[in-house]
Amino acid sequence: MSTIAAREHHRIEAAGHPFVYLVPSGALFEVDETADAILQALSAGPRPRDEVVGALAARFGDAAVSETIGELMQLQALGVVATQPAAPRPAFIPLKPIPLQSMVLNVTNQCNLNCTYCYEYGDDKIVDTSNGTKPKFMSEVTAREAVDFMFTEAGDSPTAHITFFGGETLLNFPVLKKTVAYARRRATELGKHLDFSLTTNATLLKPDVIDFLVENRIAVTVSIDGPPKLQDKFRVFHNGKGSYDIVAPKIKELIGRHRTRPIGARVTLTKQTLDVKSIYTHLTEEIGFHEVGFAPVTNSGERDFAISGQGFDDMLGQFTELAYEFLEAACQNKHHGFSNVRETIGELHKGVSKAYPCGAGVGLVGVATDGDVNLCHRFAGSDEHKLGHVRDGIDRTIQAEFLRRHHIDNKTDCATCWARPVCSGGCYHEAHLRFGDTTSATLHYCDWIRGWTEVCLKVYAELSVRNPDYLRRFDDEPAERVA
Ligand code: SF4
Ligand code: SF4
Repeated sequence: MSTIAAREHHRIEAAGHPFVYLVPSGALFEVDETADAILQALSAGPRPRDEVVGALAARFGDAAVSETIGELMQLQALGVVATQPAAPRPAFIPLKPIPLQSMVLNVTNQCNLNCTYCYEYGDDKIVDTSNGTKPKFMSEVTAREAVDFMFTEAGDSPTAHITFFGGETLLNFPVLKKTVAYARRRATELGKHLDFSLTTNATLLKPDVIDFLVENRIAVTVSIDGPPKLQDKFRVFHNGKGSYDIVAPKIKELIGRHRTRPIGARVTLTKQTLDVKSIYTHLTEEIGFHEVGFAPVTNSGERDFAISGQGFDDMLGQFTELAYEFLEAACQNKHHGFSNVRETIGELHKGVSKAYPCGAGVGLVGVATDGDVNLCHRFAGSDEHKLGHVRDGIDRTIQAEFLRRHHIDNKTDCATCWARPVCSGGCYHEAHLRFGDTTSATLHYCDWIRGWTEVCLKVYAELSVRNPDYLRRFDDEPAERVA
């Protein structure tokens, strides 16, 4: 007689139906009453199969329970308990170079704003961009070398993506322009599809810059924190003056003229600026952004703008409201610009079960102003987090060691967490600032991550019942994004 066990899963209810999120595979599916009862009968631990059938036969009938156990086995929601201990899994061994999909080019490490909370210039900075040895601006030569590096590292991949980043990216507009022209020419010669995006604080969006962005179909993300009283709390010039009045008209002009790619806003949330819903409304309705994404401020945890405890609960409450607004819009095939929910739903749709939280150091790298290749844009210029140089390529030994050390299997704190297929231990940069170690899990906000993942599971599940066709739009969407 076999003993059966439920595989690790998380049960949710959506649209009045029970759903099960299978942690080992990242699959989400609806269960009927019989399957739900079987999984609950096994919630305290493994039981003999016959005992489970016997316990539920009066409610559902022998045959139905046996048949459903068989189906759950096929779905790998149940397994037979092995009599022999499992053989240890082989250690992670990268078999061949992983193609680079996305390169973030930090064309400058200088900024004309002085945002107090900035991870690049504030108290938590990891690279000295004022007195350090790195050039303040990337040269045209280095940028060209970076483009060549990207195409080499992309291998046979038919597509590549360049994101221009800073500092304030547009402070190095001349090099940016030349780099776009060069990269386009090389892409044509190599027969690759190339895509560009750019992040800016919008202060330097002059008409000629906007013309260039439009002509070159460059996707733009604007860092902005909301209406004047929120934007001007932290996003100030070096003289302390708020930036809202300068950036708002420029962004409106950009949105009015740049029709070839959607324009998104990227908001940093702090303890003092946690008014998520009013920020969203202002940025979409008053300014006209197509999408708005929010991220809690990254810091060591000791700053007075750090979000903690109740702040995370408030943020989750407001995210939930916006997520359900998104759901109602999606049920009517209408656009809603809350990108946090759309991105997580996209991941759930693909059934991600991540070994790593993001593509940093693998499909995505950040290139510093001197051509050093780092884990991602947030580590650009950090010698401690260097993977190589654009002239020499990625050092495969360093990369393999990085992958070995950061694999989710090594994050023992995450081993029993149901949210790990999506979270996979959290952002390395966040972990580095909090715990001084990129291999740490971001345990300071697990409740928030699990709460938010559960909301997204529910929205996804409800959408799958009410408007399943909507989900098809996620079939071909690329996974990587720059936070
Ligand atoms: S960091 Fe926290 S929420 Fe994320 S997988 Fe690990 S335990 Fe889960
Ligand atoms: S999640 Fe963190 S480590 Fe990963 S790319 Fe984004 S900022 Fe870098």
